[in-house]
Amino acid sequence: MTKTFDHGGGVRSVQVPIPDNPLGHTLVYVVDTGRGPVLVDTGWDDPASWDVLVAGLAACGTGASEVYGVVVTHHHPDHHGLSARVREASGAWVAMHEADAAIVRRARETRPERWYAYMADKLAAAGAPEEHIAPLRAARGRRTLPGLSPALPDRDVVPGELLDLPGRRLRAVWTPGHTPGHVCLHLEEDHPARLAGRGRLFSGDHLLPEITPHIGLYEDPDDATVTDPLGDYLDSLERVGRLTPAEVLPAHQYAFTDAPGRVRQLLDHHEQRLAGLLALLREPLTPWQLAERMEWNRPWADIPYGSRNIAVSEAESHLRRLVKQGRAEPLAGSEPVAYVAV
Ligand SMILES: [Zn+2]
Ligand SMILES: [Zn+2]
Repeated sequence: MTKTFDHGGGVRSVQVPIPDNPLGHTLVYVVDTGRGPVLVDTGWDDPASWDVLVAGLAACGTGASEVYGVVVTHHHPDHHGLSARVREASGAWVAMHEADAAIVRRARETRPERWYAYMADKLAAAGAPEEHIAPLRAARGRRTLPGLSPALPDRDVVPGELLDLPGRRLRAVWTPGHTPGHVCLHLEEDHPARLAGRGRLFSGDHLLPEITPHIGLYEDPDDATVTDPLGDYLDSLERVGRLTPAEVLPAHQYAFTDAPGRVRQLLDHHEQRLAGLLALLREPLTPWQLAERMEWNRPWADIPYGSRNIAVSEAESHLRRLVKQGRAEPLAGSEPVAYVAV
């Protein structure tokens, strides 16, 4: 079943399924231009997902071979996965912010063993128990890792600049946080239904109506820079709130209005979460211990293995922020390092 939606003003979306994922689907946006459609994101690299995208493009009155260009909001496989197939079918350009393009380049060069070793070391440093780390060490011999040979983009998305969409005005807004090179795309034309506000915003995973995107650390075996992704994310939220778009077209769930209201909710949510963590940090905790005590959508005991890695990374990004704000600090001499409220 192919589901498409006409958002008006030469913008449609196709729901491209993400296999075995509670998110369900990626909304791939199809923007008409004078040279053929430009896609915002492409969907997960899976044969069934590709078939849905092809059928969806046909339902939109075009075809995969007609695509003029692809703008990728960020490097994650549910957004960038099918870019290579679209480019093969059409010769389209593929554009991405250079910070995410650098991740794609390194992912293509990194051997899976190196990645597993890096993850195992990182989890050990975060205080993960040995039984959690052991499967990663055992997996080192495994051959393939999903999402490790994504398409190399051939154009940069340059913050503040208009993209090559003949006859349209689509401007890149850099919104790091969920990934270092995440971008939103601001379609500066009037809203087709004349809703109040300034144009429409393709928001990728940055701004979603009902879920908060994962903010972890920017995982990279080749980059030891001490980053503050949560700080980046909160700044980026304020940036898109100030744009006051009439409507937000996110990459998951559904289109919505009142971007500034949603931004405020998310800023409040993160401030409350930071305050809650600070209360937990009255006793020194490693990132792992903090993750165990944080509130998730289910009890820690029920969180599956892979999601625990994501949770611990989320705990680390919050710790990074608290340290940067001077509200928490590493406990001298602790190993693995524990953090405590100041
Ligand atoms: Zn994502
Ligand atoms: Zn996503």
